[in-house]
Amino acid sequence: MIDDLAEGDTILRVAQRIEAALGGEEIEASAPNPRGRAAGVERLDGRRLERAEARGKHLLLHFGDLVLHSHLGMSGGWYVYPRGARWRRPRPSAWAVLSGERQEAVQFGGPTLRLLMATRVRRDSQLARLGPDVLAEDFDPAVVATAMRTDPARGLGDALLDQTLVAGIGNIFKSEACFAARVDPWRPVGDLSDEELGAVLLAAREEMLESVASGGRHDFAVYRRNSGVCPACRGPISSRGQGDANRTTYWCPRCQR
Ligand SMILES: [Zn+2]
Repeated sequence: MIDDLAEGDTILRVAQRIEAALGGEEIEASAPNPRGRAAGVERLDGRRLERAEARGKHLLLHFGDLVLHSHLGMSGGWYVYPRGARWRRPRPSAWAVLSGERQEAVQFGGPTLRLLMATRVRRDSQLARLGPDVLAEDFDPAVVATAMRTDPARGLGDALLDQTLVAGIGNIFKSEACFAARVDPWRPVGDLSDEELGAVLLAAREEMLESVASGGRHDFAVYRRNSGVCPACRGPISSRGQGDANRTTYWCPRCQR
């Protein structure tokens, strides 16, 4: 179902799928891989899955006073299968297997899989640092714009990936949102108007929600089209690494100002 590109839209889709498949059910939990046993996955056995929640790129599965927290990074994946179906990855490599009556959710790999006490979630150091979730119903771009301006020299494309400023945007929607709003991702955030920043953030939100609704199928305008042409002006798409992590940004130098 998903692989390395787990941005907020993917995680929201995973949360919706897991909740639809297993929500309200008493779960059989197992951990074929030692990494899952170390995380305590088996403690979930016999508990009821109350809800599945996406927070930016983080997935929280709520089982009463225990919460399973996962972050997939570049290598992890969650899959939902009918019970008994063949999995896409080998069974011994599964960190968590959560089985309901008819379906099961299986997790492989990633930087984070751990159990938290529900009472600890609010002040957990990883989760408390997250900025507003771009896909949350009450998302307010003005709050993010204010936070971004505390480091006015930072490039827009780099700031959009900072999960402490805004949670959920990854490398695809960074480029796509800047293109949709026709804003140059290399401009320092301090030079952008409220309207420009708001337009980029709302474009990210809109495109990611579209991706959730369409099951992840998406035609990208500029992302990984560096050998191709801009769909708006037919000029060449540029690409270059940006920020400390040197994540590739794609943009049209003619259309984006
Ligand atoms: Zn163009």
